[in-house]
Formats: sequence, C-alpha cells, structure tokens
Amino acid sequence: MRVFLSLIVQFLLIYPISAQDLNNEYKKLSVQIVKTALTDQKGYQLLKDLCAIGPRLSGYPSSYEAIDWCAAQLDSLDCDRIWLHSVMIPRWFRGETEEAFYTSTNKTEKQELNINALGGSIGTPQDGISAEVLEVHSFDELQEKAEQARGKIIFFNRPFDQSVLYSFAGYGGAVNQRTKGAIEAAKVGGVASLVRSVTSLNDNVPHTGVMYYEDGISKIPSAAVGVQDANMLSDALKDDPSLKLTLKLSCENLPEEESYNVIGEIKGTKYPQEVIVVGGHLDAWDKGDGAHDDGAGCVQSLEVLYLLKKLGIKPSRTIRCVLFMDEEQHQTGAKAYGYYASYAPEKHLAAIESDRGGFTPRGFNVTADPVIIEKMQNWLPYLKNASIDWIRKGGSGPDIARIKNATALIGYVPDGQRYFDYHHSANDVVEAVHPRELELGSAAMTILTYLISEEGL
Ligand SMILES: [Zn+2]
Repeated sequence: MRVFLSLIVQFLLIYPISAQDLNNEYKKLSVQIVKTALTDQKGYQLLKDLCAIGPRLSGYPSSYEAIDWCAAQLDSLDCDRIWLHSVMIPRWFRGETEEAFYTSTNKTEKQELNINALGGSIGTPQDGISAEVLEVHSFDELQEKAEQARGKIIFFNRPFDQSVLYSFAGYGGAVNQRTKGAIEAAKVGGVASLVRSVTSLNDNVPHTGVMYYEDGISKIPSAAVGVQDANMLSDALKDDPSLKLTLKLSCENLPEEESYNVIGEIKGTKYPQEVIVVGGHLDAWDKGDGAHDDGAGCVQSLEVLYLLKKLGIKPSRTIRCVLFMDEEQHQTGAKAYGYYASYAPEKHLAAIESDRGGFTPRGFNVTADPVIIEKMQNWLPYLKNASIDWIRKGGSGPDIARIKNATALIGYVPDGQRYFDYHHSANDVVEAVHPRELELGSAAMTILTYLISEEGL
C-alpha cells in the first residue's frame, strides 16, 4: 500500500512537470523550425531548381526530369526509404499552334485574341474552325439560346466573382465554364468553345486548366481567352453580332503512359508503422513555371524532411513525403496512392497537403473527428510562431482526399487573395513566390507534422 501511495505521489509530482517540460520543448522547437526555415530558405532554393527544369505537365519530357530531381533531393536528405510509385497517366500535348482572331462582317477588321488551349482539348483542323459566335454567361442561358447555337463557337463569358472574400469561391463560381463548357456547347450543336479565363486579375494572360468530354457527346475544341480580350470580343459582338471568329489549335491527346509519384520517408523511432504524409503535386501546367501551383507544395513537403533532419529531430512516427503526379488532369497519382493506402500494412494517421500557393500562412483545414480537431487546436500557440491563426473543419485537398482510411486529412491554407492571379497561367513563375511567405508555410507544416508525430491524434 505504501508503495502504491508513493507511486501516486510521484506521479502527481512528476506528471505536471514533465508536461510543462514537453510544452517548453515544443515551444523551443517550433521557434527553431521557423528561424531555420527563414534563414536557410532551403525550400525557396529547391523551388528555383525545380522551376528551372521546365514544364512538368504529366507525360512532358521535363516531368520525368522533375521526378528524377525529386528522387535525388530525397536521397540527399538521407531518407530511410525512397521509391517511385508507378502511375498510368493521360498525356495531352499543347502543340505549336494556338491562334484566334475575329473578322468583322465587312471584313475591314481582323483582331487577334490572346488564347491558350484547355488541357484535354482536341485540336482543330489545320485551317482552324471559323464560325459566328454566341456569347452566354451560364449553361441556363445557353439552353435558352439553344436554337441560335448550332454551328457557332460558344463564348462563355461569366466573370470571376470579385465580390467574395474567399477567392476559391470566386473561382468555383466560374470554373464550370472551363471544365464542362465544351460538353454543354456540343449538346446544342456548338462547334468550339471559347472560355473567359478564370482569374482574379484584370490582365490579358490566358489561364489554362483541365476540360472534360462526356461519352456520347461529340468532342469540340476548347480554349481560354484573356479577360481583356474577352471584354473586347463581347463589345465587338454588341456592334457586330455576325462577326466571324477563327480558332486554330494543334493540341492532341496521346495514349496513356507510365509515370510516377515520388515518395521518400524518415522512419519513426517509436511507431514506425504509423505514417504522416506531407505532399503536393509535382505536375503543373506548361505555361509559366507552376511555381505556386504546385511547385510550392512540393518544395514545402521536401523541406519538412529537411528541417527535421537539420534540427536533429527524430520523429516518433514515420514522416512520408509524397509528390503526386497528374493532379491537374485526372488525379491518377492520387487515385493510385489512395488505392495503395487502402491495403498498405502501415497505418495512415494523417496527411497534410499544400496546394493553394506559397503565400503567407493562415490556417489548416481538417477533415477528422471533432475531438481530433479540438486536440489540434490546442497546438495553436506553437503554430502561431509560423503565422498560423486557426485550425478548423474543412476540406483537405484533391491529392490526399483519396487516402480514405487516414485518421485526419489536413489542407494547408495560406492567404488566398492572389492565388488566382497566377493559377494555371504564364504568371505563375518563381518570381511570383516570396521566399519568406513560402518558408513560413514550410515551417507551419513542419511544426504540425512534428506535433502529430509526437502526440498522436
Ligand atoms: Zn494545384
């Protein structure tokens, strides 16, 4: 009995002290992580190297170079295990020709438009497609004007809603014109679809992105036009509704081919069978560098491993960096990894995805049991060192969302106001990423990863 009582006394004496010690340790480490990220700027250096490789769209030659480069980085970080995870990917090539112009009815005016093909689109005949234009702002309006649509190029001109605080909502309110415009246009006899670029910036740079076809509905070419040229075309149509637009695209779809997710991990010291994934997608649209989307997420994920190693932190659980292929078109990399996770012997405790640009940290969206979210919210004092203000229930990201058996799926959320200025366009270059903003994101992901590793969920 005496032994028992003394054990209780010892426990009461020791436990609060050790918890306090742990808190202090986390506090100290989170500060060190932030300082090291901001000082070394390892992620930013990696981003410059990754962006120098060239366009990383699935199946593009540079995408394979990027895979080798990532594997080499993981190797230099002295990972315990590195592997290339096989994925069958779609291949779409832009080709050389992207041209659009309109001519007025009296043929006095020929006006070029700034366009680019949408990913997945078929090309046009070599001489292009020339037709009159029907401008609409919604699929409902297209239905109402269906009788006027046959044989025309359908011009979807609904703008990005600038009135909303949350830029992703502005994007979400306009993007179906890009993804499904060609399907809806073809249903009413349209011969091509031209879509106002889905961007928050008032410039004239076209923004690409994936578009889809539907079985049983004829495939028609589809392109995006810069917003200033979209406005110009709209004005021209008011003066001259019968003007003719010509569209020439040489893009093409080729048979699928093998590519890879790139994976590297640091084995956990106490619970190696419990895994925390950190990831982003390695593929990117071919205009620009794919610096924000999603070079930033890739280098931040690599930097999580770098920071742990640099600070001599040996995580209790396994930290696995997964760089996914083909997010932009068909998420085949995410599907393949999700399938792997469904039968893998190791447990996927958590996955953290960064795919919203390399901007200043704001928070983390979490898909998990409310009790787990509450537990994570207790860590905010540490995460505030990296400028994280909140943790709340929310969607994670398209790549990790396929890991259905994970305990928590977590989306890193940086400030979103500028993301759609760059997204999927020639604007998304390495110079558009600020090193300190990027590094704070890496630090935030590292702190959260470490806390999950040590505390569990
Ligand atoms: Zn992305």
